[in-house]
Amino acid sequence: MCIMKKHEKYIICCPNCGKQLLKSKDGSELEIECPRCHSELTVVHIGTELKLHERISEYTAESK
Ligand SMILES: [Zn+2]
Repeated sequence: MCIMKKHEKYIICCPNCGKQLLKSKDGSELEIECPRCHSELTVVHIGTELKLHERISEYTAESK
């Protein structure tokens, strides 16, 4: 996972290839696809907490 905090925003990078994807502001819930490696990611940013899910790994966990 690659999240950097800069001032009031978070800068989120792809956990697979490290490409910078977006800058998140407070209250964001986003679904994004990495343009380089095509990982599908869900970002939830509420208050000071930021979570990054990779949809592929969630699917793998559900299929067990
Ligand atoms: Zn990527």
